[in-house]
Amino acid sequence: MNRDAKLGEGSFNSRHGYNAVMNDNRKATVACPFCATLNRVDLSRIAQHPKCGNCGKPILLDRPIAVSDATFERVTTDTTVPVLVDFYADWCGPCKMMAPLLDDVARKHAGEVLIAKLDTDRNPSTGMRFGIRGIPTMILFRGGQEIARRVGAVPPNDLETFVNSA
Ligand SMILES: [Zn+2]
Repeated sequence: MNRDAKLGEGSFNSRHGYNAVMNDNRKATVACPFCATLNRVDLSRIAQHPKCGNCGKPILLDRPIAVSDATFERVTTDTTVPVLVDFYADWCGPCKMMAPLLDDVARKHAGEVLIAKLDTDRNPSTGMRFGIRGIPTMILFRGGQEIARRVGAVPPNDLETFVNSA
């Protein structure tokens, strides 16, 4: 009887532990858009509206989040889900065409894929590091490693396929 009780408890703990591990696996490190503080966000809990640990303002992950030369490394290596980085510039027409598509993808894949944007004019060293020659260039990262890239504007279906290849 004692043994049965222990088994029951063990199985409960194991299931609980499994869930905890699953939750722990989906984390993103992102800069607060208001105060630039890097925050570690539990992506399994974005429905509960995560807030910046420094300024208390909301961290919204259902839209693209800005990365910079200063934050790029931390965001791409510390985030445990795939990260799609859009290398763009404000003057670039095709980049403007891609913007609403990336907004849609960010909303649709919130918590599963982190959509990030890097302004190549303001952050030249990251663009150089990845040999960006034309914009927009979209690169998918997993664990900080490039796994795929697309150069130029792409139609919505192609973007969706690209994101799903992560
Ligand atoms: Zn903040």
